[in-house]
Amino acid sequence: MISLKSSREIELMDRAGTVVALVHKRLKEEIKPGMTTKHIDQICEEVIRENGCTPSFKGLYGFPGSVCTSVNEVLVHGIPGSQILKNGDIISVDVGACYKGYHGDSAWTFLVGDVDEKTRDLCRVTEEALYKGLEQVRPGNRIGDISWAIQSYVEAHGYSCPIEYTGHGIGKSVHEDPYVPNVGRPHTGPILKRGMCIAIEPMVFMGKPHCHTLDDDWGVVANDHSLSAHYEHTIAITADGYKILTKED
Ligand code: MG
Ligand code: MG
Repeated sequence: MISLKSSREIELMDRAGTVVALVHKRLKEEIKPGMTTKHIDQICEEVIRENGCTPSFKGLYGFPGSVCTSVNEVLVHGIPGSQILKNGDIISVDVGACYKGYHGDSAWTFLVGDVDEKTRDLCRVTEEALYKGLEQVRPGNRIGDISWAIQSYVEAHGYSCPIEYTGHGIGKSVHEDPYVPNVGRPHTGPILKRGMCIAIEPMVFMGKPHCHTLDDDWGVVANDHSLSAHYEHTIAITADGYKILTKED
């Protein structure tokens, strides 16, 4: 069931989302070669708690970290640990914060030191795909319009999105209805309505979309081990478009 949020609920989600944005701002300053993914997790948890929120992902479905730290070929759900970032790596950090029972969710891929042009292009296209999806958001359009905008943009650049991993509705739970796939057809799926809150999140492989879970049961990698990137915003659908909740006010 897709729930429509009141303006009061959207205010709480906006607060949670602003804290998620603060985390990403801090990460942009802090991430550098030599850091462990565990250290990144600690920074995120500190910023989340200092701002009166709790980390949404800690314990969610049993996840052990406060945030997901997915390095290079890991698409999503990387567990923070002893892995040390090297010059030229990319790391996707997926951050969720909960304020008074309402969640904000945003992922960003960060460049570690000097990153080669091919990898930067993957990141650029994935971020642009997020904005292509956002351009479709207004009452009366459908979820499939978002999906198609993302898929067609990503595939035009020779990259791919796996069908198994999708965006989602969000509110009192991190993951609510509807699914917001990165692959789909225009004019299909649920109709967007004012008060719906969704997370749009292109997850993109440089190679083919077929993927599998690592032995740790969490990290997801392409079968061809290509690099991957991930950008995500939580938004609220307004009377004539949308508001991004996971950015600074
Ligand atoms: Mg996320
Ligand atoms: Mg999400």
